[in-house]
Amino acid sequence: MRNEFSVIKVVNKLKECLPSGEFNALHEPKFSGNEWTYVKECLDTGWVSSVGKYVDQFEQKLAEFTGAKHAVAVVNGTAALHVSLLVLNVKPGDEILVPALTFIATVNAIAYCGAVPHFIDSEYRTMGVDPFKLKDYLVEVAEIRGEYCYNKHTGRRMKAVVAMHTFGHPVDLEPLLAVCHQFNLVLVEDAAESLGSYYKGKHVGNWGELAAFSFNGNKIMTTGGGGAITTNNASLAKQLKHLTTTAKVPHKWEFVHDHIGYNYRMPNINAAIGCAQLEQIPQFIHSKRMLAKQYQAAFETMEGIACFKEADFASSNYWLNVLLLDEAVTDQRDNLLELTNEQGIMTRPIWTLINKLDMYKDCPKMDLSVAESLSRRVVNIPSSVRLGESYEK
Ligand SMILES: *Cc1c(COP(=O)(O)O)cnc(C)c1O
Repeated sequence: MRNEFSVIKVVNKLKECLPSGEFNALHEPKFSGNEWTYVKECLDTGWVSSVGKYVDQFEQKLAEFTGAKHAVAVVNGTAALHVSLLVLNVKPGDEILVPALTFIATVNAIAYCGAVPHFIDSEYRTMGVDPFKLKDYLVEVAEIRGEYCYNKHTGRRMKAVVAMHTFGHPVDLEPLLAVCHQFNLVLVEDAAESLGSYYKGKHVGNWGELAAFSFNGNKIMTTGGGGAITTNNASLAKQLKHLTTTAKVPHKWEFVHDHIGYNYRMPNINAAIGCAQLEQIPQFIHSKRMLAKQYQAAFETMEGIACFKEADFASSNYWLNVLLLDEAVTDQRDNLLELTNEQGIMTRPIWTLINKLDMYKDCPKMDLSVAESLSRRVVNIPSSVRLGESYEK
């Protein structure tokens, strides 16, 4: 057959899209703006730690960019998720609905609260939560008593859905919100991978009650390590700020703390890098969208494989590009991973489903057939901002 799938063909196509003779990482950061200037100012003035003008500025600029009313900067995305669940009053024994196909931090944050993750399936259009399948499932297993939602089988209260926008692709938020309303569940967005992504023209993070972002070194923009929570709820924003700054009651000299708080505040020196990165985020997003277009064109006619495209309701930041293997050729996935990594093209499979990990193997779950299929079929390919720049017009 002329057009038959072959790993060699995939590698050659990737080489056509990438600069030759270089190692191409999955995602490397880019520092081409005011990073050095702002960091130097922190060092020169001594404002390197948990107080300083860049932290406030970063929060303000991030709120402006995402369109959220409030942003609270924290030490990393995992802390952002943890504290989001805490201010929503997630307690030991509560059940939290969460995709099995996500990065481990989404689920760990639930466990930090003593709550039980309840795994739900994903859909092919977004690689994220399938709102329609979730609805059918809840009709079966959930029961509203008073104003609260319970799991009929475990008797535990179900409080929230944490939806994650996989590799920058927004989940189908409107039907998901409808399900949340129907079952009195709060929506939290794990937007760690999706700064610069929009659902029906509105930035992600504005749909749920709270959203967590990450600025780790491998995300679309970085603060070294860092994260943030955005919300349009002023009271939650105030609690978030308080809880992430050791719950200290403001006073000139006295140490009084009114909760068991957390030392989760982002340091000024990290926020300085963040301010410089935020200034460049529109170019970063443009480059990444150009690279995605290039990959999509390159793989358009190849048999057995496709380059993942955003859904029609979404504008994605294309944080990590995805090659989606047909089920029929998944037996060649590991060959593809071997050969590409050998040749300086960094690739990797998607995460192991969280319900398969020892710590979470006994948690409740629904049918996960789509997540299972995606976990066999997805391969991430190099997606750094730098790679898209040569395609810019
Ligand atoms: C990166 C990431 C996180 C965690 O962010 P850190 O800043 O590394 O703690 C959480 N969820 C998802 C989906 C991520 O990709």
